[in-house]
Amino acid sequence: MPHDFLQPLTGCFACPVGENPTVAMIEAAYRHHDLPWRYINCEVTPDNLAAAVAGARAMGWRGFNCSIPHKVAVVEHLDGLGESAQIIGAVNTIVARDGKLIGENTDGKGFVRALSRTCDPKGMRVVLLGAGGAARAVAVELALAGVAQITVVNRSATRGEAVAQLINEKTPATATYQPWDSTYSIPPETGIVVNVTSIGLYPDVDSTPDIDHDSLHPGMVVADGIPNPPRTKLLQAAEARGCKTADGLGMLVGQGVIGLKYWTGIDVDAEVMRQALNDLGL
Ligand code: NDP
Repeated sequence: MPHDFLQPLTGCFACPVGENPTVAMIEAAYRHHDLPWRYINCEVTPDNLAAAVAGARAMGWRGFNCSIPHKVAVVEHLDGLGESAQIIGAVNTIVARDGKLIGENTDGKGFVRALSRTCDPKGMRVVLLGAGGAARAVAVELALAGVAQITVVNRSATRGEAVAQLINEKTPATATYQPWDSTYSIPPETGIVVNVTSIGLYPDVDSTPDIDHDSLHPGMVVADGIPNPPRTKLLQAAEARGCKTADGLGMLVGQGVIGLKYWTGIDVDAEVMRQALNDLGL
């Protein structure tokens, strides 16, 4: 009986990389769908990034993720970028297409995919808490998904203004920057509130973004990018006020679903991936 012992390779290049649970959810999906593919975490330092990408090309890798600190630096080693990756200026998923390495960004796409299980963002007004790399990606994808307006609430004015400017210049949505120097009250016309700061991330689980919880109303959707713990203090407060919620684990799983579609062409079972993360205690 003929065998094929060639395993299509994917993985993650980052530094550090050992704490990244993506490997568990992706390998669970490969096993569930009987794919002989592998996903390997590789600790790649900045001075080795060019060689690592050349190595992936030479070995015929089907694609790979890039995380801290390579999301911007990897761009110069690629052959092209997808639409949103080009606007965001950062890449976290590389896909081998017709012999070329193309950079995509699934941070925001995974978020929008998870959010769409709760609401249709078209025409909505959004409050975005944060203006770092994840916030930038989420803002661009929400704008491309048709939200009307984004208020970027951020501590640092430079980063907050840069995200608002990017949305106004490069997408059909409009955006304004709102300084965050005291408790922020969510405007009543807001449809979606998103936390994409790092506030509330393990082990800092008792911290929560400084917003007035009494300004949250039942018509609003409150989403948190924090994957660990998934049920943040912010989401608990939102639930207590009757808001619908979307957690950061859903965003992480959404990214996995989109990445695997890019690499393998198949629609993988999101529940299998979420269960793999739950099994890790997330
Ligand atoms: P960055 O370091 O680029 O940005 C951090 C953001 O948090 C900035 O806007 C920063 O504000 C803000 N912030 C941090 N501490 C405070 C504070 N004490 N008060 C007010 N603002 C604060 O990080 P990333 O954008 O890469 O990631 C942000 C979070 O998103 C991470 O915690 C990560 O867990 C989550 N994430 C989740 C993903 C998922 O799939 N679930 C994917 C990617 C990220 P300032 O500009 O003023 O410093």
